[in-house]
Amino acid sequence: MTDGDSTVASLSVDGIRTALHCPRRYELASVDGLECGEDDAVEERVDLLRTAICDALRSGETDREGIESAARDRLSSLWSDHDERFHSVAQRRHERRVLDATIVAYAERIGTDHAVGIERLTTDATGGELIGPGLPLSSTIALSEPKAEPELDGETISIDATVDYVSGDDSSIVGVRFVPTLAPLGRLRYRSDWEGDVATRFTDHFADDADVFDPDPVGVLFETAVVLDGLRDLRDRLGLGDRTCRYVQIPVADRSSLSVNWVQNEVETNLEVVDLTDVYVDHHTFGMTHDHRNETVDGRLATVAATLVAESFDPARRWNEIEEHACPDCDYTVCCQEYIAHEVRFDG
Ligand code: SF4
Repeated sequence: MTDGDSTVASLSVDGIRTALHCPRRYELASVDGLECGEDDAVEERVDLLRTAICDALRSGETDREGIESAARDRLSSLWSDHDERFHSVAQRRHERRVLDATIVAYAERIGTDHAVGIERLTTDATGGELIGPGLPLSSTIALSEPKAEPELDGETISIDATVDYVSGDDSSIVGVRFVPTLAPLGRLRYRSDWEGDVATRFTDHFADDADVFDPDPVGVLFETAVVLDGLRDLRDRLGLGDRTCRYVQIPVADRSSLSVNWVQNEVETNLEVVDLTDVYVDHHTFGMTHDHRNETVDGRLATVAATLVAESFDPARRWNEIEEHACPDCDYTVCCQEYIAHEVRFDG
C-alpha cells in the first residue's frame, strides 16, 4: 500500500487473524512458536483439493471434462498417500466420494470460466506464476501508531497472504482461495456493501464503549485488504495493465451443501463463489484512488500490525470478550498465564 522508509518485519494474515481473537494466543503461537492441538483433518483434505484442482488448471485443460478428469486423477494419486486415521473403511470411502463430488461441482460450476481466465492472463502476462496452491502475495503498509510507539513512525511492514490461483479477463484480475467453509465471514456472506452494518460492526469491534467482538469478519476484511494489495503488486509486476483486482473465496468443505444417497453410495454437492471485494471497498476511497481500497479497514490494519510489531500482547483490555469467546476453544489454556490466573481466582 505504500513505499515506506524501511521495513521492520513481516506478519502473516493468519497471524493477524489469530491476534484478533487474542493477542496472547498470537504470541504463544507465532512469537514463542508453541505448537498445540491436533492436526486438522479438514484442512488436510482441503489441501488435497487445492493441489488436485491447481494441478488440473496447470495442465492447460479448459473444458469441464478435461478439468474434472485431470483433477480426479491427481486426487487419486494424492489420496493413496493420505494417511488420515478413519473410523472405518466405509468412512474413508465416503470422504473420498465427498472430495470427488467437490471436484465435479468445481468443474461444472467454476472450472471452465476460471481456466479460460488463467489462459487469458497468461497470454497477456510477462511471465510469472498464476497458479498455486498457496501462491504468495504480499502487501507493504506504513505502521500507524506513532504516538504509542514513536520509534515505529515511518516504518513499514510486509504482510503476507496466499491465494490458490489468479484468474481474470480483460478488465479484472481475480485472486481465488479455497477455504473450508464460509463460517468466518458471518454477515459478510450476505452483504454486498461496506456501508451499513458491515462498517458499523467493524468500527464497533475496536471501540472501547461498544459490546461487539467480531474477530472473524474483521480478519476476513483484513485478509481482503492484503490480498487486493498483493494482487495489484502482482498485476504491475506481470504487466497486466490497469485491470481492477478482486478477491473471491470458494468453500470446499461445507457439509451443509452435501446431498448423500446412502443406498446408492452417491454424493453430490454445490459450490458457492463469494466475492469479498464489494463488501470491503468503501466508495469514498474508491472515488479518490480508483483502486479497490477501504481507508477505515486499511488504517485499522496498520494499527493492529503496529501493536504486534511493538510486542503488545496483553489481553487485559478485552479480557471479558476474550474469556467468553476465545478461551473456551483455545489450545493454549495449559500454558497461558492469564487463563491460569483466572482459573485460580475462580477456584479460590
Ligand atoms: S487461553 Fe484465553 S487468554 Fe490465554 S491465549 Fe488462549 S484465548 Fe488467549
